[in-house]
Amino acid sequence: MSTVLQIKPSEKFLRTERLPHIWCPGCGIGSALNCFIRAIDHLEMNLDKLIVVSGIGCTGRVAGYLKLDSFHTTHGRAIPFATGLKLANPELKLVVFSGDGDLASIGGNHLIHAARRNIDMTVICVNNFIYGMTGGQVGPTSPTQVRTTTTPYGNFEPPFNLPYLMAASGASYIARWTIIHLTQLESAIGEALNRPGFNFIEVISPCPTIYGRLNKKANGVEFLRYFQQGSVTRNGADPKEADIEFNGPIIVGKFIDKKRPTLGEGFSQVLKKAAERKKKD
Ligand code: SF4
Ligand code: MG
Repeated sequence: MSTVLQIKPSEKFLRTERLPHIWCPGCGIGSALNCFIRAIDHLEMNLDKLIVVSGIGCTGRVAGYLKLDSFHTTHGRAIPFATGLKLANPELKLVVFSGDGDLASIGGNHLIHAARRNIDMTVICVNNFIYGMTGGQVGPTSPTQVRTTTTPYGNFEPPFNLPYLMAASGASYIARWTIIHLTQLESAIGEALNRPGFNFIEVISPCPTIYGRLNKKANGVEFLRYFQQGSVTRNGADPKEADIEFNGPIIVGKFIDKKRPTLGEGFSQVLKKAAERKKKD
C-alpha cells in the first residue's frame, strides 16, 4: 500500500453524508483528524465507550464529522461537558478536540482546572496561533509581532506556551507535534487514549487563509516548509523551553508522562472512607 493510501482517512469513522467539510485548502485540521482516526482504528477500542467533545471554531467541527457519539458544544465549554459525561459514566473514554482560542482563552479556566484535577480525558488542541472561524482575531497563542485582524501593526502581547501552562497546572501527559509529524501524532494520541489522567496533546497546524494571508504564508506548502525546517524534536524537554516565537523554532516531542492520582481515584478513596465510617457508626 502506498504512503498516500495509508494516510487517507478511513471512511468508517466519518459521517460521509456531511462531507465535503468546511476546512480551507491547506488547513491542517483534517490531518490532525486523520491521525486521530488512525489511532482509534489501530487501538480497536470499544467505540461505544468513546466520546468526542468539541467547542466552537474551525476545529470545533471535528465532533460533527466523526461517526461516533460526539458533542459540538458551546464556545470554550467542551471540557466541562466532557467532565460531566465522565462523572456520570466513569467507563467512558473522553476526548476533547478543539482549537487554541476555544480551549486556552474562552475555555482557559476549564483547561487549567481539568489538568490540576487530573480528570481522565485526552485533550487534542489544534493550535494555529489565531482565531480562524471568527475572523482572524489575535488569540492566546498568537506569537508576539504576528499580524492578525485585530493587531494590524503586530501583536504586542506574549502568547501562552501551552505545554508549560499544562505542566504547571498538573497535566500527567503532555506532547506537542505539528501536522507534518503524522506518525508521532498518531502514536501520541494512541498512547494518551491508553493511559489514565489528563492528557494534553498540542497540534501545531497551519491556517493559510487568515494567519498565512496576514503573515506572508499564503498557502499550506509554505507552512509545511516552516514546520519541516523549524521543528526540533526534543522528547523529555522541559516545557518551559517550548516557547514559540514568530517564525521561530518549534520544539516538539513528548514532554511529560507521569503518574499521579486521577479525580476518579480521589472520589473512590472518599467513597471507601465513607463506607468504612458508616460500618463503624
Ligand atoms: Fe483552517 Fe484557517 Fe480555514 Fe479555519 S480559516 S478552516 S483554521 S485555514
Ligand atoms: Mg485557532
